[in-house]
Amino acid sequence: MKLRQRTATVLLCSLAAAVALAGCNARRIKERPSPRGTNVILLIGDGLGDAELAAARNYLTGAGGHLTMEKLPVLGRMTTYAVVENAPHLPDYVVDSAASATAWATGKKTSVGRLSTAPQTGEPLATLAELSRAAGIPVGIVTTAEITDATPAALAAHINARVCQGPNDLAFCPEFRRESGGLGSIAEQILHQRFEIVLGGGRRRFEQHWGGLGNPQALLDTAHQLGFTVVTTTSQLEGPLRPPVLGLFAEGDFDRLWKGEPARPYPGSGPQRCQPAGRPPEQPTLEEMTRKALEILDQLARERGRPFFLQVEGANIDKSAHAADPCAQIGETAEFDRTVDLVWKYAQERGNTLLVVTADHAHATQIVPHPSAGAHFPGLLSTLVTNEGALLTVGYATNAPAGSQTHTGSDVSVFASGPYSEQLAGRHDQTELFVVFARALGLRE
Ligand SMILES: [Zn+2]
Repeated sequence: MKLRQRTATVLLCSLAAAVALAGCNARRIKERPSPRGTNVILLIGDGLGDAELAAARNYLTGAGGHLTMEKLPVLGRMTTYAVVENAPHLPDYVVDSAASATAWATGKKTSVGRLSTAPQTGEPLATLAELSRAAGIPVGIVTTAEITDATPAALAAHINARVCQGPNDLAFCPEFRRESGGLGSIAEQILHQRFEIVLGGGRRRFEQHWGGLGNPQALLDTAHQLGFTVVTTTSQLEGPLRPPVLGLFAEGDFDRLWKGEPARPYPGSGPQRCQPAGRPPEQPTLEEMTRKALEILDQLARERGRPFFLQVEGANIDKSAHAADPCAQIGETAEFDRTVDLVWKYAQERGNTLLVVTADHAHATQIVPHPSAGAHFPGLLSTLVTNEGALLTVGYATNAPAGSQTHTGSDVSVFASGPYSEQLAGRHDQTELFVVFARALGLRE
């Protein structure tokens, strides 16, 4: 009976695809999960709060349009707060990417700056990626930041300070040195986890040497010894690749896809239209990296008769908001949304796949009246001319003009489709993602 219902859903969806996807989406929610586990794909727009989302929607699709992520059938909201390091019973209302990613990676709250370790004690917290691997479930991690940056790192590393990214970056975490019997920097921990595919930037961390003065070795050499296929250009990514795969396509974070005048003090920059910035050709798009990760994970999952777990991050939405650069921010959001489109099509064809799109925290963006309207906005402003020809004024005012704009503490939206997605409707805390993902993957009841 279950099988017959599933077949009916797939048939209906194929038919629906030719006409309109809306009905198909509604049925997908009710799709019966396989008893062998459901694939989980988590897409994180870093810093993609609702104001960032609305600014991107206005610019890209017009005020009445929808980004692809907004067409997913299930909508929920999540709280993202951290806890205070020395008083973990108290909330810290504004989170960072490290504590936030720890929440869904481990199901536990921690303090700002920590990666998958408990506040105060530093006790390591098991991550969804580690639990998956123990169950034979292949794992993929994709980002446009350094792979040692907080969001990807939370799945793979247990460390007290997110800044401890490479063996030369351990000033704040000396006890983690491998020479001293520690787990090593984030880069070293990522290598020793040997997840099936890890793609992003941060090559400079892997060019660092570890092992002290006795036998220093670059981490890239360690990666080869551990059996990784290492790729550093888009063209190398295109060929068939034997897992585990380590892709390091930039020295640091990826370049931004769009450029424009950053926001300025009143009356601000603009009116302007954003321009393509041209990412260097060796840096793939987020879609290209995600397509390769899906190809490898899909095949491994079929071979093993298991589901897979993939986390994809559009990282530089956040970094552009810190820089009060609305064009870069919207360009990165557009790329992230194209990746949602790719993954959603895959999930609909593949079936038995839970797709979740959300953010790790809200950011500084505000949509404000045009300066000519009389209000004197105290922060940084830029007026954009949207694709529908209207004026969109974006403001940032969470720091002094020369400082980095900060995260903010409002809730974030959750868009989802596939089995278990209905469990994310309504208001939850982001730790609930861990619970639902573990259930979908078959790791718990
Ligand atoms: Zn940030």
